[in-house]
Amino acid sequence: MNSAEIRQKFLDFFASKQHQIVSSAPIVVKDDPTLMFINAGMAPFKDYFLGNKPAPNKRIADTQKCLRVSGKHNDLEEVGYDTYHHTMFEMLGNWSFGDYFKKEALEWAWELLTEVYQLPKDRLYVSVFEGDPSENLVKDQEAYDIWKTMIAEDRILMGSKKDNFWEMGDTGPCGPCTEIHIDLRADEERAAVNGKDLVNNDHPQVVEIWNNVFMEFNRLADGRLVKLPAQHVDTGMGFERLCMAIQGKRSNYDTDVFQPLIQYIAKEAGVTYGDDEKKDIAIRVIADHIRAISFTIADGQLPSNNKAGYVIRRILRRAVRYGFTFLDFKKPFLYKLTEVLAEQTAHVFPELKQQLGFVQRVIEEEENAFLRTLENGLKRLDALEDTFKQQQNTIDGKTAFELYDTFGFPLDLTALIAREKGLKVDESGFAKEMEQQKNRSRNASATEQSDWVILQPDVVNEFIGYDCDTSDAHIVRYRQVKAKNKSEYHLVLDRTPFYAESGGQVGDIGYLVSGDERVEVLDTKKENDLILHITAKLPQNLEAGFSAEIDAERRNLIRKNHSATHLLHAALRTVLGDHVQQRGSLVSEKVLRFDFSHFAKVEDAELRQIEHIVNERVRQAIPLDERRNVPIDEAKELGAMALFGEKYGDFVRVITFGSEYSVELCGGTHVHNTGNIGYFKIIGESSVAAGVRRIEAVTATGAEEYMQQQLNELNAVREVLNTQSNISGAVQKMQEDLKALQKQLEQFELKQLGTLKDTLADKAQTIGEVKLIAERVNLSSADYLKKLAFDMRQVVENLVLILAAEIDGKPQIAVMLSDNLVQDKGMNASQMVRELAKEIKGGGGGQPFYATAGGKDVAGLEAVPAKAQELVQSIING
Ligand code: ATP
Ligand code: MG
Repeated sequence: MNSAEIRQKFLDFFASKQHQIVSSAPIVVKDDPTLMFINAGMAPFKDYFLGNKPAPNKRIADTQKCLRVSGKHNDLEEVGYDTYHHTMFEMLGNWSFGDYFKKEALEWAWELLTEVYQLPKDRLYVSVFEGDPSENLVKDQEAYDIWKTMIAEDRILMGSKKDNFWEMGDTGPCGPCTEIHIDLRADEERAAVNGKDLVNNDHPQVVEIWNNVFMEFNRLADGRLVKLPAQHVDTGMGFERLCMAIQGKRSNYDTDVFQPLIQYIAKEAGVTYGDDEKKDIAIRVIADHIRAISFTIADGQLPSNNKAGYVIRRILRRAVRYGFTFLDFKKPFLYKLTEVLAEQTAHVFPELKQQLGFVQRVIEEEENAFLRTLENGLKRLDALEDTFKQQQNTIDGKTAFELYDTFGFPLDLTALIAREKGLKVDESGFAKEMEQQKNRSRNASATEQSDWVILQPDVVNEFIGYDCDTSDAHIVRYRQVKAKNKSEYHLVLDRTPFYAESGGQVGDIGYLVSGDERVEVLDTKKENDLILHITAKLPQNLEAGFSAEIDAERRNLIRKNHSATHLLHAALRTVLGDHVQQRGSLVSEKVLRFDFSHFAKVEDAELRQIEHIVNERVRQAIPLDERRNVPIDEAKELGAMALFGEKYGDFVRVITFGSEYSVELCGGTHVHNTGNIGYFKIIGESSVAAGVRRIEAVTATGAEEYMQQQLNELNAVREVLNTQSNISGAVQKMQEDLKALQKQLEQFELKQLGTLKDTLADKAQTIGEVKLIAERVNLSSADYLKKLAFDMRQVVENLVLILAAEIDGKPQIAVMLSDNLVQDKGMNASQMVRELAKEIKGGGGGQPFYATAGGKDVAGLEAVPAKAQELVQSIING
């Protein structure tokens, strides 16, 4: 059975058990501060478990893209070394939201594995939660008894909290679980060692394939467990491991999920997979990581220097590094793999194939940048090699950390290079530096979040800000958040006009008013579906009725900018082409910023055209067509843009300004009519990342102010130039005049220099065999001083020339000697100029025949000629 069939059989099976089959949510998480990436199939459904939102269907099944490289579930360091942990993997899952429970879940799991997939029963083991007195949790007898009817009792193992009590993160839904493990070893091995003893013992052929979690609790921030309002089933089966089991392979990488990638990489590297363990690891790392990198980028997360973006960058760099070190890939290579992957996954995850060009560009650019950094790091290591040799052939911890921090060299890479050079690395010194940095960042970002205080349970917060600027409201829950120097409160209201920051639009500010008290709302943010009003203090009476009032004037400006962003998006596609896709945006009261995929600078003429199209739409005063709660499929039919990034169950809002022109999915606030935008003006175009451009623009009063500023500037220029028309012509003429004048000045100065040369030659006095010229001169540049000295050398023999000049307000001295004086008499211009420079409080040097000095004291120049005469006298007198 190939992997596509295995996946389909899973979905078909649960469809036959009345589950609704949905597609994977994007792997990148929006609007949840506790999670950057989906790390389990249940994560997109968190709100259903917590009771924040009703599930649209009580039974759901899907395959979900997951990533486990940060937070509670982090498998990154295992990946490549073992054969069954990945960064990105697919989790097959079936869910019951307050519907069926343990009996159905376990019986179906067994039926699917042993009857549909025909996995041999004598290779399967299951584990059951043994209970935990410290948390007051009892043994899961119910699960035990259900298993007993299907599987021999000696194959049911009891497990501790670590393995059999599943938690998504530090807080959130959780509960006891029962895992299914499979023993894939050969018969002789199985006869020799009982598989039972290898379960949960990191054996590569005795692995967990499926976990059935019975969600009953919610873990609070203070560590307490509280019962959830209803009981749910959450199951997760590792797709790649299942394929290994069904296809009878010994490694996930030997299945058809990974083989196309593995073979491609091996061919590129000119090696055979399976020949050399080190190279095999590198190949596995790359085959694994390219999946994580490609799908996160396709789902909207660009690599960057912080948060989720940094996680992607780190995975990418890990892949590059393994290729660089073990497979000799010195040029970008990862980006080439995306094509293989896109073809392979087009039928389940079409988002990659649809954005292939873009994803490739981003990856290639990142690879290029990192390879450059690697090279610089290697140079740095080379440059310091002598230092390392002097410190007992050791790369010190500080340098190792610098390499890690600035050049992205993990310790193992530094150690590897060190070994090649016969050096050691001070690993404990490195660890110390690392710890120090961690402490620094921990101190900077430590926040402490207390648990919610629930005032009104079961009240759902309702957003009414599309229609109203104020509303009556009650607080339904609140909590305190303490950061380093401040403490703030998060308040959730039963109904609110406050828009929470999302989709690029900033959060509203305003007031909660009750009687005489006005509590300022500093910002509004979202956490899943909760709207958090952020305040510096709590209202005196938390139970009171409030009037929630947004800053309506500010919101009106935001509306204009948001609608203008939609018009801009459409105009970009008209002018630049359909490859333009939104990559990010910011909509505030002051400005709008739109990032989009496009591979070249947007030319001025194109910008003018885009601006013109948008302003045409503004003048056409197109009315807003807003549709709320549209199911995704219907939205697609309407032709809405930006369909990536939505997950099943989201009912979307469709914003249309002219059904032929702009149809977008958007939760933001908009003008009722494009005419309200007033005027649209682009104020900047730039690059933000490989293949991503940014346009900044202003509207309405912002645009008016911007244009006024530009005009003021122009008027100021008019006034200075004293012309009303053809200003650019006037400036151009001025520049031409200036050039001509400069040329004249140059010629004049050269002529003067000629005259000066003659005058100086006449002033030469003879001292012994030497002709001495020591003079104060007037020159406008150091170049002329040099030219004069070299010209004099051509016309006067036995020359000792000493010139003192003030150039650009600074004193300068030049000494020029004829060659024979240097060679025969041992005279030295450098020494002489240093002696004379004392007069001007300065110093200098040069060659034996020509030297110059600068100084601080212009007044000292006067004394230089006399001093020069003395100096030459004394040299000649010996
Ligand atoms: P393990 O102990 O093997 O790391 P787990 O207990 O962390 O697994 P769960 O959180 O229960 O796994 O996830 C459910 C299923 O997802 C597992 O049974 C396994 O098949 C699969 N799985 C978990 N982590 C990974 C991973 N990093 N790569 C591939 N599959 C995984
Ligand atoms: Mg794990």
